[in-house]
Amino acid sequence: MDGNTLRFTIFISVFLTMLILERFISRHPAVDSKPRRLGINLGLTGLNTLLAKLVFGAAAVGAAEIAGSRGWGLLNMLDWPEEVELVLAVIILDFAIYLQHVIIHKVPFFWRFHVVHHSDLDLDVSSGLRFHPIEILASMLYKIGIVYLLGPAPLAVFVFEVILNGMALFSHSNITLPDKMDRLCRSLIVTPDMHRIHHSVEVRETNSNYGFNLSIWDRMLGTYTREALKAQPEIVIGLETFRRPEEVTFKNLLIMPLQNTSQEYSQSSQIK
Ligand SMILES: [Zn+2]
Ligand SMILES: [Zn+2]
Repeated sequence: MDGNTLRFTIFISVFLTMLILERFISRHPAVDSKPRRLGINLGLTGLNTLLAKLVFGAAAVGAAEIAGSRGWGLLNMLDWPEEVELVLAVIILDFAIYLQHVIIHKVPFFWRFHVVHHSDLDLDVSSGLRFHPIEILASMLYKIGIVYLLGPAPLAVFVFEVILNGMALFSHSNITLPDKMDRLCRSLIVTPDMHRIHHSVEVRETNSNYGFNLSIWDRMLGTYTREALKAQPEIVIGLETFRRPEEVTFKNLLIMPLQNTSQEYSQSSQIK
């Protein structure tokens, strides 16, 4: 099985598992139509995958191959055991993605595009795929830059991307974990309850819990919110600006960054 097939197989397996679990152990009642949202979020995924392939091809793994062959990046200059470098690379890449997420929330221009992700009125496994195409392309450029600076092995980038994709599906899924299990998992990784707080309409909660894989960055850097103001099933998901399903259609999501409403929100949502 080649890398892309393995990547796709893991992705589909996690996606379907979460979709089925959401049916039986859902955590939060829906306010919007699930089939409608699935159509929009998967439509965006299709568009993003196509664009990313057209513009970047092998992208981050390819960048790691180039960095390796030219000796670019910190890890290519070190001679540490492969396993140590792999684990270190995955952890550093996760920190870089956490940092990128904080910057996206703080810089109004970037926030305009990230609004699309936060405009989902419900949160489920498909929300983990809901991003504006420009944000996806910009994220890839950022990741390629980090790979050139860090110089990880192509395998480390592959492992990181597979974990990131799987964790994005898991942390956005609308599932209930037993309290004890949530607390135990949360001491190391981001759980659905932790990320749901990031999608709360409360600005202070939106601007917290930025982690994707490891929960330690939020704890270490003071951006962690343990409990939302409301109980988990009552958290209002989304943004104040977009409350009606008619406002968040596929077409509207594509042009959303051009609208002033998102800018107004971003100005009121700067971290205090
Ligand atoms: Zn966010
Ligand atoms: Zn999210």
